[in-house]
Amino acid sequence: MAGTSLEPSIQAIGRALYRRARAHPPALYAGRRQALERAVGDDRLRDALFQFVDVLPQLRDAAAIAAHFNAYLGHFELGGLFGRALRLGTHAWMAPLLRATVARMARLFMVEETEAALAAALSRLARLPAGVSLDALGETVLSEAEADAYAARIVKLLGWLAAARAQRPDISIKLSALTPRFDSIDPAGSVDRVLGRLDPLCDEAARTGASLTLDMENHDSRPLVLAVFRRLAERPGPAPGVALQGYRPDAEADLRSLLELPWLAARPLRVRLVKGAYWDSEVALATQRFWPLPVYTDKAATDAQFERLSALLFGAGERVYPMIASHNLRSLAHALALARSLGRAPDSWEVQMLHGMADPLAAAVIGEGARLRVYLPVGDLVGGIAYLIRRLLENTASTSVLRQTYLEDSPPERLLAPPRPALQEANAGQGFSNAPVSDFTLDASRRAMRDALAAAKRGRDYPLHAALREAASGRWQDSRNPAAPAEVLGRVELAGPAHAARAIRRAVEAFPAWRETSVAERARLSRRVADILHARRHELAAWQVLEVGKAWREADADVAEAIDCWNFYADAAERLAGWRSTRDFPGEANAMRYESLGPTAVIAPWNFPLAILSGMSAAALVCGNPVIMKPATPASINACALHAILLEAGFAPTVAQLLPGDGASLGPLLAGHPDVAAIAFTGSREVGLALLEQAHRTHPQQRRIKRVVCEMGGKNAIIVDEDADLDDAVTHILASAFDYQGQKCSAASRLISVGRVHERLLARLADALASWPLGPPTDPQYRFGPLIGAQAVAKAQRYLEIGRAEGTLVYRGKAPADGHYFAPAILADIQPQHRLAREEIFAPILAVLHAPDFDTALAWANDSDYALTGGVFSRLPEHLDAAQRRFRVGNLYLNRGITGARVGIQPFGGTALSGTGVQAGGEDYLGQFLWSRVVSRNQLRHGHVAGTGSQREGVTRPQARP
Ligand code: NAD
Repeated sequence: MAGTSLEPSIQAIGRALYRRARAHPPALYAGRRQALERAVGDDRLRDALFQFVDVLPQLRDAAAIAAHFNAYLGHFELGGLFGRALRLGTHAWMAPLLRATVARMARLFMVEETEAALAAALSRLARLPAGVSLDALGETVLSEAEADAYAARIVKLLGWLAAARAQRPDISIKLSALTPRFDSIDPAGSVDRVLGRLDPLCDEAARTGASLTLDMENHDSRPLVLAVFRRLAERPGPAPGVALQGYRPDAEADLRSLLELPWLAARPLRVRLVKGAYWDSEVALATQRFWPLPVYTDKAATDAQFERLSALLFGAGERVYPMIASHNLRSLAHALALARSLGRAPDSWEVQMLHGMADPLAAAVIGEGARLRVYLPVGDLVGGIAYLIRRLLENTASTSVLRQTYLEDSPPERLLAPPRPALQEANAGQGFSNAPVSDFTLDASRRAMRDALAAAKRGRDYPLHAALREAASGRWQDSRNPAAPAEVLGRVELAGPAHAARAIRRAVEAFPAWRETSVAERARLSRRVADILHARRHELAAWQVLEVGKAWREADADVAEAIDCWNFYADAAERLAGWRSTRDFPGEANAMRYESLGPTAVIAPWNFPLAILSGMSAAALVCGNPVIMKPATPASINACALHAILLEAGFAPTVAQLLPGDGASLGPLLAGHPDVAAIAFTGSREVGLALLEQAHRTHPQQRRIKRVVCEMGGKNAIIVDEDADLDDAVTHILASAFDYQGQKCSAASRLISVGRVHERLLARLADALASWPLGPPTDPQYRFGPLIGAQAVAKAQRYLEIGRAEGTLVYRGKAPADGHYFAPAILADIQPQHRLAREEIFAPILAVLHAPDFDTALAWANDSDYALTGGVFSRLPEHLDAAQRRFRVGNLYLNRGITGARVGIQPFGGTALSGTGVQAGGEDYLGQFLWSRVVSRNQLRHGHVAGTGSQREGVTRPQARP
């Protein structure tokens, strides 16, 4: 923080600013004070207003507007225009009226993208006087075509600025709008792609006499913005400016490293210092991912760092041109005091403010002798709405100085008080918490993954466990890389029927001791597995990339889920352990406890090689059941790695056995064997249903009814309602339908569009998909890789032909020649009865159905043999509520992607022919691996009641976690 010697000057300048600024309210507050006070005082109303404004641009007719208006605002007592509009109901002219009101509001903060409107705004700014930085507002860029359009707009705006002879013209560039593939997992590629479009813009800016400033966006893109900035700044010619965000604790380190750039002697470094505009989403996303928060949670900490960074900028002398972007009286007074104390010339730094946010404060700053630049967004109402909402939120947040100054009449002493950060509270969680996925924006994470891939030792042999190998099976299977099938990753010895019989015998022998092992001990081993998985997460993820063709993030998430399974079920088992009383009577003690089932066959699919094998095995083991794990052959090496970790953790080789081999021969042997007590299966419907039949056919020597856990496929639908936010919908559909090439049971394979959204949705989705080439998943620039094998490609090809006959192919990608690649496809005009709408394909083929209205869409979505996952994008609360009530799938996701369920948060599994309806990763799951036993003990002895309460004979409390 600046030295206290500045304090008197800050206070004096601050009071002068305050006096000047207080004289007039900003345009937003003029004439709206009452309405804003109302909105500000009522969080629900504020929230409802923003949600309504958010959806408004996409609503096409009066009925739709009225429905949304009523849904969001109908239950508030509203006066003024909104109140009148509410009473008008669906009157035809309500729509234009509301639109005009919102447009008027938007124009306070932005200008419409026409040359005339911009010229008028520029001449107003010139009279202030103020320079300008334009920001081209728009939708999220999801395709190359959209990125081209953004770049073309910048060129056009540069031309308009030149024609209007704007003062100190500048354009703020959002780098995420220059390529749809702006991803820190691939920094070099992302930077090159951005520069491909940015270089010509730099030339054009230089030619027209404008400067460029790179905006800072969110956590994920920060390293890329800095990298692009460094690359541009290394070159001769004018360097762009760059924004830094005061709410990021690491902004100081970023600034210090920029200050060491060698070229600073020749050209000043232009840094725009902002507080940061993405606080809500940064906190939400980091919390959801269990990542450390990348931003301060304490506003005062941000303010204090803003002052520190200002001091650093000014302290660097003429090498730096500080651009202090704030509407905070204290921050501005601080910067002015610094500049004066250092004798800075007025043209050696500037203040920046957003258009329309604080005109009186802007005038006051100019009055104090500072140079001003106004950040002026241009665009249309649709594109600008997100921006408008951010500004309105900022203006009405309780920490907003503008709100405090103009609505709450805070005294200047309060507004000018030095920021005093509170101590950050450590977030000490208790009990289970999910393992965070890796943050691949960090160099260290990417390096760890690259190193693990390089170190993965190819060509090893994986023999059967010694105890199973009375004689070698002699049958070995090559495990190959699906992206390069000529590459043999290793050889796995396959078990045959004799090995299966031996494994069952050993499990039967091991059962009594394992059943009697304390739950605390079983849980300890389970947590130990989690710890080892954690320590070796990159190595394990690398093997998934190699053996089953997962992209880095997908592989990493699978390892994280596996870790969660071992930890979560350990906790859950401890909660169920021991005797507990059911109902006490004088003279009668009733107690129950859960018991283990016995040897359990775990039959797993290849698509989540660690997580699903882990989930079923961990649940069985912590419940006291020895397991025989039968992995899917395409993921055999991954299974061998997991098995080795179980033994390393301390599970006895008789309690945790691995039986790699062919499912069609080993599966029925395990399922039908009289000594196998339970079968935990996850895989296809065909195999699952057959297993159910086998398991329920009683064998002559059989002494129990087998338990079958059976999780099968899906034909999951996403409904996109007419009013959906397409930026979100397209982003999430892309991930849900095409990540891991659609090879997830939860993947979206039906897209049901409602009404008029259809054409635009399809066009944006196809363009977005076209932006992502396919390639080997070892290289993180490729989001999409190969299918698991040649058979999967052939099956996808067959369904593509069926789809062509049933509907219309609207998009087909390109696939590399070698490897088991299948180019993604989108087929439209599919009808609910078509095979493409009914059968699980397990490939990147999306069937699109076009429903006339939301009810029909819901009916189609439910009309399936499967009921696993589903999704709805809508901004009409009653549609979301209807989906919640009536869209009967195991996991329903509203306004988000439909894959990636997390242990303990979204217990996962379906009903109908998708599964038994008991969800994995949830509280009920362990019940499937246990049976319950009740003991009733009479304690009346000749009229005397023996023992009372907790001292009753035989009843103990549930075992606590050690
Ligand atoms: P799959 O049914 O072909 O194989 C699953 C397991 O069963 C493998 O270990 C396989 O070797 C074994 N198997 C094969 N034939 C068998 C038989 N006759 N008897 C006993 N076992 C046999 O499935 P897959 O291709 O490995 O996985 C993809 C399928 O799994 C998809 O249908 C997908 O939807 C489903 N899946 C479901 C979930 C879920 O949680 N519901 C999760 C992942 C995958």
